[in-house]
Amino acid sequence: MSRKYVYFFGGKKADGKAEMKSLLGGKGANLAEMVNIGLPVPAGFTITTEVCTAYYKNKKKYPKELTKQVKDALAKVEKQMGAKFGDLKNPLLLSVRSGARASMPGMMETILNVGLNNKTREALIEKTGNPRFVYDSHRRLIQMYSDVVMEKAAGIEPEEGKGVRQQLEKALHDMKLSRRVHADTELTADDLKELIEIYKSIVMKVLGKPFPEDPMEQLWGAVSAVFQSWMGKRAISYRRIEGLPDDWGTAVNVQSMVFGNMGDNSATGVAFTRNPATGENYFYGEWLTNAQGEDVVAGIRTPNPINEVGKSEHTEHLPSLETGMPATYKALNSIQKRLEKHYHDMLDIEFTIQDGKLYMLQCRVGKRNGPAALKMAVDMFKEKLITAEEAVMRVQPSQLDELLHPIVDPSVEIKTKGLTKGLPAGPGGATGQVVFSASDAVAWAKTGKKVILVREETNPEDIEGMRAAQAILTARGGMTSHAALVARGWGKCCIVGAGNIKLNYGNRYFSVGDVTVKEGDWLTLNGTKGIVYQGELPMIKAAEENPDFVAFMKICDKVKKLKVRTNADTPEDASRARAFGAEGIGLFRTEHMFYGKNSEEPLFKLRKMIHSKTEKERIAALNELFPFVKKDVKGTLSAMDGYPVTFRTLDPPLHEFVPTRHDEREKLAASLGISTNELNERAEALHENNPMMGHRGVRLGITYPEITEMQVRAIFEATAELMKEGKKPFPEIMIPVTCHVNEIKHQYEIIKKVYAEVCEKFGLKKIPHLTGTMIEIPRACLTADQIAEVAQFFSFGTNDLTQMGFGFSRDDIGGFLPEYLDKKILPGDPFQSIDQDAIGKLMEIAVNGGRATRPDLKIGICGEHGGDPQSVEFCHKIGLNYVSCSPFRVPIARLAAARAVINDKKAKKSGSKSASKKKSKKK
Ligand code: PEP
Ligand code: MG
Repeated sequence: MSRKYVYFFGGKKADGKAEMKSLLGGKGANLAEMVNIGLPVPAGFTITTEVCTAYYKNKKKYPKELTKQVKDALAKVEKQMGAKFGDLKNPLLLSVRSGARASMPGMMETILNVGLNNKTREALIEKTGNPRFVYDSHRRLIQMYSDVVMEKAAGIEPEEGKGVRQQLEKALHDMKLSRRVHADTELTADDLKELIEIYKSIVMKVLGKPFPEDPMEQLWGAVSAVFQSWMGKRAISYRRIEGLPDDWGTAVNVQSMVFGNMGDNSATGVAFTRNPATGENYFYGEWLTNAQGEDVVAGIRTPNPINEVGKSEHTEHLPSLETGMPATYKALNSIQKRLEKHYHDMLDIEFTIQDGKLYMLQCRVGKRNGPAALKMAVDMFKEKLITAEEAVMRVQPSQLDELLHPIVDPSVEIKTKGLTKGLPAGPGGATGQVVFSASDAVAWAKTGKKVILVREETNPEDIEGMRAAQAILTARGGMTSHAALVARGWGKCCIVGAGNIKLNYGNRYFSVGDVTVKEGDWLTLNGTKGIVYQGELPMIKAAEENPDFVAFMKICDKVKKLKVRTNADTPEDASRARAFGAEGIGLFRTEHMFYGKNSEEPLFKLRKMIHSKTEKERIAALNELFPFVKKDVKGTLSAMDGYPVTFRTLDPPLHEFVPTRHDEREKLAASLGISTNELNERAEALHENNPMMGHRGVRLGITYPEITEMQVRAIFEATAELMKEGKKPFPEIMIPVTCHVNEIKHQYEIIKKVYAEVCEKFGLKKIPHLTGTMIEIPRACLTADQIAEVAQFFSFGTNDLTQMGFGFSRDDIGGFLPEYLDKKILPGDPFQSIDQDAIGKLMEIAVNGGRATRPDLKIGICGEHGGDPQSVEFCHKIGLNYVSCSPFRVPIARLAAARAVINDKKAKKSGSKSASKKKSKKK
């Protein structure tokens, strides 16, 4: 039997069904499905995507069976509709539309009213008694067809303004001028009849061929033009952006025309089974009387609300379909309910009413924004329309992000031109007045002003200003630069690496090209997309504590396997993260207590410690520091009561804490009892050429064991005190930047000694805890089996692992990354999403090595990737126990962890299916 290339739909039974999207395209598959469930659909047929693929493979020739299959299908359509294509008494008109697997809005072509010519139109006038409508349809056919089929599909590329469409439009315009009317609808039937002849002569003149009168020639021309449009410039670039493959091909849907523009008893509309903007469960849509489908979407006339509940204060006075055509509305309403039940999802539908009779022209899963997606998922789960797993897959992680931060009002943003772009480091939106220093940010904020801190880059000394600002904008730096890391931790809007910004601190302005922005000028930042706008754009508040959000997260937790922890460094962050559902802290960066709020005193003491010369001096300084560290540790363990908290010993190179201001150096020198010169010398000695690969992490603990000792004592004492208070603290001590097992062995001896001392001091037999290490250096990955002999847990520091794996400085990547992405050297920013090819491979080696030595080894991730959905999926796949990320990303990670389980199941299922297929083939 020959291959089936044409699928009929109409009457009560279609050849296709919804599951056949790959073959019939989305539109074709859903038209078939609507027919199968008994909805009124104008009959038609779908030419499969395989024909498109074959057409391109075969030098634009169709499979030989196609002509006959189209002829047969057309005969069935004619029978169903009781009209004949090209007939001189009762002519059938057709629409010819594209329809790929995924919707590609506006990227391919559509031709309406195919089958009209000077003869069939007279028959149609006879039949409808509506000459104006028929002439108008004929005129539209010539306009569309000559442009799409005779010019574009023929590969003619006219000079700007010389295309046939423009010339026809000019003729229409001239006709209106000569008749002294404004709107197309004011032209009479006679005007249009005359216009058709003018159109035909223009087509002849411009394209050198007559407009085809033969309906069959029109039909095949239109079909070919749709296939041609699959390889049109617009469609190709859309596929590149969306990552859709070229070999999918498009289907072509040939369908009987129905007319919403046949008079006041006809109409057309577009609707959604639920409100796509809010997710509320009511039928929502727009309609127009005496109009064609395109008129609703094109905004030529303001459409009316479909029903009373959908009316707003702007549309209150307009007629609804519900009151205007109550019986038809009732039928449509019951169809939309059936469709939603059938598809288990919110649908976007198109319908036409021809002379009071309702026809369905399209249905597909409707697009929605984040808040609406979440509400629908929760509601549909409660209505038992979908399962927990389906609910989880209905919300994209990026859509959840939309809910967690105030955002720039999208309706205004869409109309506003951006000033410049950078990397989207901290999500949400913010507006404020520009300041150029951290101290100004603090001072202005104190007077109640909203400010945006603009810096070349930030460093720990800017922290107060960063906190005071609504948002941070830097000209340099990448996704794990200081500004990005800190801002994300706070859930603050931030854009980094906006390389077009030229700062002039001295004169307090920055420029982008020839635009100058001065101190005090307003800016608006979209930190989710990395766009900077001039002026103050309105913001909308996303519902942070909405009950649907809480319900949705519960559904995710039911499905996910990975634990989700947070990176938090203060008791306040810990409490916030608990509220977001964190199941522990995966990274407490001790050094963060020396930045920000109330950090002045401990920072001063830390600086004393750093600038000590002898062990004695250092121990004295550490003793002063001890109560501050212990207090923060205790507060954090208490906020996370019952959950594990991973405390990392001091990591950054010490020079980061050296004061730069002269007055601060003087104060420090005085406190140490040394001269400022001596202090300057000691500070100078801390300078390193390559600090990120220098004296940092465990290396500090090896050269200054007393630093580790003080921190470990603070952790054990805080834990012991909490245990005495009846709490359930569970600290995990984590050693950073390890590259050799001996480093951990060395630190482990210190930990053991302090542990014994604290147990004795508090009369405790045991203080529950774990000792482990960060895995953030390639050598550590490769020797993970050895490291696991000592370490009880691993936590991947993928920021450093990416830095060391690629040899890219995480602080300077902003300088060249945009070009790397533009030129497709890299598929994405490796500091944002784990590079699975190499960094991921190193991680897998470490997981396998570690677990070979210690099968129950607990393994997590605490680099910034822990909040990136793709990376979370990867962590699930390689068998990690938990991911840890900044508090505001915890919900996103919970969702991503749940989606990982489902995607993994799907992959396994399709893997085993193809394996069993192979097996059965072998048999
Ligand atoms: C890391 O390197 O991934 C990490 C979490 O540590 P930090 O960013 O503090 O270096
Ligand atoms: Mg690190």
